[in-house]
Amino acid sequence: MQIDHAETANIEKLISRIGAGLDQFLKFEHEDCWHAEPQWRAHLDVPLPHQGVGIDQVIDDLVMHVIPNGSAVPKPGFTSFITTGATSASVLASTAASIAAPQRYLLNAFNLLEDVSLRWLASMCHVGHMQGVYSSGGSVANLLALGAARQFAFEKLGHDAGADGISKPVHVYASAESHHTIQRSAGVLGIGRRALQIIACDSQGRMRVDALGAAIEKDNRSGIVPMAIVASAGTTNTGAIDPLKEIGEIAKEYGIWFHVDGAYGLPGILDERIRHLYDGLEMADSVIVDPHKWLGASVGVAATFVRDRQLLYRAFTQEPADYLEGAIKQETEAAPRIEHSMDDFGVPYYDYGVELSSPCRGVVVWAMLREIGVEGMTQRVKRHNDMAGYIAMAAKAHPNLELLLEPTLSICCFRYVAPGIVDLDAFNRQLHRRLIRENQNLPSTTQVNGKLALRPCFVGARTNQAHAEALLKDVLRIGQDLAKESIGF
Ligand SMILES: *Cc1c(COP(=O)(O)O)cnc(C)c1O
Repeated sequence: MQIDHAETANIEKLISRIGAGLDQFLKFEHEDCWHAEPQWRAHLDVPLPHQGVGIDQVIDDLVMHVIPNGSAVPKPGFTSFITTGATSASVLASTAASIAAPQRYLLNAFNLLEDVSLRWLASMCHVGHMQGVYSSGGSVANLLALGAARQFAFEKLGHDAGADGISKPVHVYASAESHHTIQRSAGVLGIGRRALQIIACDSQGRMRVDALGAAIEKDNRSGIVPMAIVASAGTTNTGAIDPLKEIGEIAKEYGIWFHVDGAYGLPGILDERIRHLYDGLEMADSVIVDPHKWLGASVGVAATFVRDRQLLYRAFTQEPADYLEGAIKQETEAAPRIEHSMDDFGVPYYDYGVELSSPCRGVVVWAMLREIGVEGMTQRVKRHNDMAGYIAMAAKAHPNLELLLEPTLSICCFRYVAPGIVDLDAFNRQLHRRLIRENQNLPSTTQVNGKLALRPCFVGARTNQAHAEALLKDVLRIGQDLAKESIGF
């Protein structure tokens, strides 16, 4: 039996037990947790305890029942979604922050690292002229960017949308391949999901600029306020990059806010071989990137960049509160004399977004960049792009493979083919099922121009060329087996 007690520092010993369990997990020798589900469910899904068991037992449970039955996402062969295992530097920094600085406000080293790392991140991603704020993920990062867009569009009409809501219907333009969180942001911001105008894509999955121009012209004639154009720098589906320069020029011509969703693909700018695809990024009014995707941060870190955070402030301020009044140092005022760290709230991130309580995320990005630097990140991004390129080359060369789309970044869409297979979609779906059951290579499937594709997306820090080769080998082996079974050769 355990009763409440004043906790004492004992992290070192406890964390080493968790560490041993995690190191074992990271060998990936365990089966998929699906196999033992009845056992761990029986152990964990029990009624609310009235008497505690004490921290030793909690750690034992974690090491014996929880960690070994964790997710497939951190597996190096997992290439299904643009989400991946966190690097050690990032999780340890995040653990440190949750103990030493449970909030990102007040003067302290963690609050400083929010700003330092935002500047580093902006500089690394070629948007060094912009100011940032962290949030929980691309969903919220897009919401904040579009909140700034809404504020901008209505201030031009002499209206404060943050304070008074919107006064006219607006439209947001994004491609058919844009992320669905754009649509949800429009709903949350009160402009409505239907305000999203879907612009058609070309066969490479990029926004058609002619269709964009036509949609804006049509709205201009009917008096609808064009609020924002959203371009993708790396679509989730295929990694396509919209023609940023041409889109940016249209945005400039019409005076419309230009947002670039680089949640996944912005770090692709580190690869100098494709950097020209990001031409026009400098015209963006807002840009987002998810460090918890390609950069390997623990989940819960995205960044929104805008030219001037005061716009975010006007869009999202909570208005002053009595218990904070006088304690907050306005960024513009000369610093008051500080006699304690609580005299200074630090940079007021809580007014640039939608979270008041928030973990310190800057230290996570800081740790990752300090660990391997821009050079290390560049190597990782190029390695992953090369892996997608390797699959594409092999798919073009092999008679039983077909490349469905030339990769732009680290996603490659291809499929198995053989003469005599009537329904290639059904065949590849079946192949994919078997691949997943083998639990080594775990790509997703998607549709490319109406065809079912196998879609590995390489973003994991622990994923390398050997995994691309293993995936290819397994696809060919399973494809041959399946073809033998279904068509007899
Ligand atoms: C993943 C993704 C998002 C959403 O980000 P979350 O971190 O999952 O909320 C938005 N846009 C793009 C292009 C993405 O790839």
